[in-house]
Amino acid sequence: MAGIYIHVPFCRHKCSYCDFVSYPDKVDYAEAYMACLYKELKMRGEELKGYTFDTVYFGGGTPSYIPPKLIAGAMNQIRKCFKLAKNAEVTLELNPGTIGEGKVFTYLKAGINRFSIGLQTAIDSQLADLGRIHNAQDYVFATKLLKGQNFSTDVMLGLKGQTKEDVRKTIELATACGSSHISMYALTVEDGTPIYTDYLNGELPDSDEVAELYEYGRTLLEEKGFARYEISNFAKKGYESKHNLNYWKRGEYIGVGVSASSFMQGKRFTNTFDLDEYMKCIISGFYPAVTSEEVDVDDAKFEFIMLALRTSAGVDMNAYKQAFGTSLAEDFPNALKKTVSYLELDGDCIRIKDEYLYVQNSILMPFMEEERTKNEGAGMR
Ligand code: SF4
Repeated sequence: MAGIYIHVPFCRHKCSYCDFVSYPDKVDYAEAYMACLYKELKMRGEELKGYTFDTVYFGGGTPSYIPPKLIAGAMNQIRKCFKLAKNAEVTLELNPGTIGEGKVFTYLKAGINRFSIGLQTAIDSQLADLGRIHNAQDYVFATKLLKGQNFSTDVMLGLKGQTKEDVRKTIELATACGSSHISMYALTVEDGTPIYTDYLNGELPDSDEVAELYEYGRTLLEEKGFARYEISNFAKKGYESKHNLNYWKRGEYIGVGVSASSFMQGKRFTNTFDLDEYMKCIISGFYPAVTSEEVDVDDAKFEFIMLALRTSAGVDMNAYKQAFGTSLAEDFPNALKKTVSYLELDGDCIRIKDEYLYVQNSILMPFMEEERTKNEGAGMR
């Protein structure tokens, strides 16, 4: 399985927590930028002729902010330059403050068949604190336009003054409006963003409080028929995101656009984060990748485990052996011993017990240390 990621870096306004590559004041560049992106698609397509791609994901930034004909143009170019699977999942991230009937019509005609809506919270004062451009009513309006379509909703935890009641209202709004998938994740506070001041002032919930909100949200979602299939992702049966599952299965993907990352043919590479440099490179016929690394076998083994342990299915031990020719027990005996009380076996899979999935980072530490020890040992030989 393989995916295509398209980065659209324009937003109407910079949110107070945003550390993504997104430009609030450059939408006038959208047409020129997308023309470069079409060219990068062509360049990549020529190299990847042997591949069939199963998913396309338009992320950002705010893909729904730019003129929809530019999204349709990208889909045309993808179909021209790549082989897309017949039932390919094609997702577009959508900000409820930037949507209208005409846009939805163009997206559907272009072949978008899944939407990911950034609601974050149903509490308007919290949306204002986050610097979001929409309110809860805009979300309701957007979901009415998407009636009958497959869409996911983002829910954010750890907001200033957020209570369980607020989480309940947000989840209930999302499910009542027809969301078939919910991504529920904690606010990450990055140094240098405006919300960092709130964090320093102790105005945001601490990690224990966020964990409580998460547990509350998880229980509520499960009561409503949403199964958790990854730490932050919950879906009605059959509505899991294929694009994200491919990441967690360590599948290949090509990322196109400024700051987009790729994993293809054993290499991880990332495009420049600078919009002007990106456009200059593409116009001159060069790839704008600024970092590129071959993943060695020990790193690949750790990546396989780290990504799979994020999911409820866990690590498929047969798939691991097939990929590397060695077993998990041979490669990570010490880490398995240290974490055994947090893990459970389910057929051929080993996974983190339900109650510990939220704290999986600490469970991964022994695996990381064992991998590092092996790398250091290899360096000394
Ligand atoms: S909409 Fe998303 S990408 Fe744009 S500024 Fe807000 S958080 Fe950043």
